[in-house]
Amino acid sequence: MNTEQRFQPKLSRILDVNYKQIPNKFRKQATQRRIQQNNQFETESQGLLGLTNLGNTCFLNSSIQALSNTQPLTDYFMSQLHVKEINPDNPLSSQGNIVQSFAQLIRLLWQKVDQYTLEEIQALKPTQFISTIGNYNPIFAEGTQEDAHEFIAFLLDMIHEDLNRIKKKPYVEQTKFTKLPTNDDAHQEWTKYLSRNQSIIVDLFQGHMLDTLSCLTCKSSRYCFEPFMYLSVPVLSRECDLLECIEEFLKTETLTGDEGWNCTKCSQRRDSNKKIDLWSMPNILIIHLKRFKFNSQFRAKIRSLVRYPLQNLSFENLVCTKQIEKPTYDLYAVINHSGTLTSGHYTAYAKNRDDLQWYHYNDSLVSPVSQPENQSDAYLLFYFKNSVEEFKRQTLEGVNVSQQRRSIINTIVVKQTMLNVHSQQSNSNISENKRNNNNFFVPSISSQAQKRMLFRRQTKHFQIVKAQDQPSFQQDSIIIQEEN
Ligand SMILES: [Zn+2]
Repeated sequence: MNTEQRFQPKLSRILDVNYKQIPNKFRKQATQRRIQQNNQFETESQGLLGLTNLGNTCFLNSSIQALSNTQPLTDYFMSQLHVKEINPDNPLSSQGNIVQSFAQLIRLLWQKVDQYTLEEIQALKPTQFISTIGNYNPIFAEGTQEDAHEFIAFLLDMIHEDLNRIKKKPYVEQTKFTKLPTNDDAHQEWTKYLSRNQSIIVDLFQGHMLDTLSCLTCKSSRYCFEPFMYLSVPVLSRECDLLECIEEFLKTETLTGDEGWNCTKCSQRRDSNKKIDLWSMPNILIIHLKRFKFNSQFRAKIRSLVRYPLQNLSFENLVCTKQIEKPTYDLYAVINHSGTLTSGHYTAYAKNRDDLQWYHYNDSLVSPVSQPENQSDAYLLFYFKNSVEEFKRQTLEGVNVSQQRRSIINTIVVKQTMLNVHSQQSNSNISENKRNNNNFFVPSISSQAQKRMLFRRQTKHFQIVKAQDQPSFQQDSIIIQEEN
């Protein structure tokens, strides 16, 4: 009998389909205790199974363990809510296959298993999950070492589309403001986003930022709102604090030459300033430390120590608007990358919800530690908002979006979470890949050059009808249209 047959998931009713809020169950007090006997730790806590390395799958194992310790997400899956929310007709989804496979894994990880059984099985083999992922993005199932951040971005995006509560996405146009937008403008833009995107992933992980470009010649500016699911912050080449990296990320950057903004007023590419402002902060905040540097000349890993707080990481002085909820965060998981660019290893640290103990997840081995170690290897940090008792669902309530709705039946917006796409290049590459089974690739010309994003497609052919000039992560950056 295999593990999956032996442990039928425990059903718990924590959330209902129309939940308005998700209880913040990142607990302050332990509900289980750990006993040390003969140098062996015994615990009644769940969520402590390892994951077998199936050949360079440490990037995937550590990502799953970090997400698995995201308690409101795990509560959602333990409540079986995903079953009711799957949106199989969404052309950007995996028809629910990825989310079901992920939910199954989460439920196995959080099964109530006694100590004896825990010792006996020790680790789960995520074979089924990897195989499902491979159907939609073969890169993550080829047995090669991949990037944990890219994997998480892909996985959360697919889970979002699998669970997107919007059955028919209205066509909306992102506004490019020429004057500094107001709160009302921000609200309207967020509403547009929500009119196309609502899911547990949006509820928990997404915030809103303002992207400003200013022409250094004519001084005109363009302001755009972007949803975000993680902050990708630069790592300084010296020992520093996380706050310094975030400040660096928020600094005005000057873009010159080909990188400059194609100024609408000057009607040409100009040297310009780019600035990101944090408008509203998410419930769960993922921070990606950009340790990997790529360009045409070199590839390198920055190994400097970034000191990060375990408690009360405060964005109060970093956000550009007054937040309804105090933007302070506690750490609950970290993914480390040790070793070099080409030969490295991923592990995760996470704080267990039952005994409030930190554990180190090293593939099949799970061991207690006093706190996350080797800070100079930290690559992804997972924080939850500690100032609220419940995480609110993102809703359109009280907002009239009917005026913005305009139906374009054949247009689909491809969400590019991590790659910059150039319209012409993508166009040619898409046609090259047309015959490639039922899938098509949007190749990257970004620094992470070998990566290709794969989108499931249900219909025959697509052509790109619009590409935004400044694509950035977590943005609808190309619009493709079915060919008739
Ligand atoms: Zn200009």
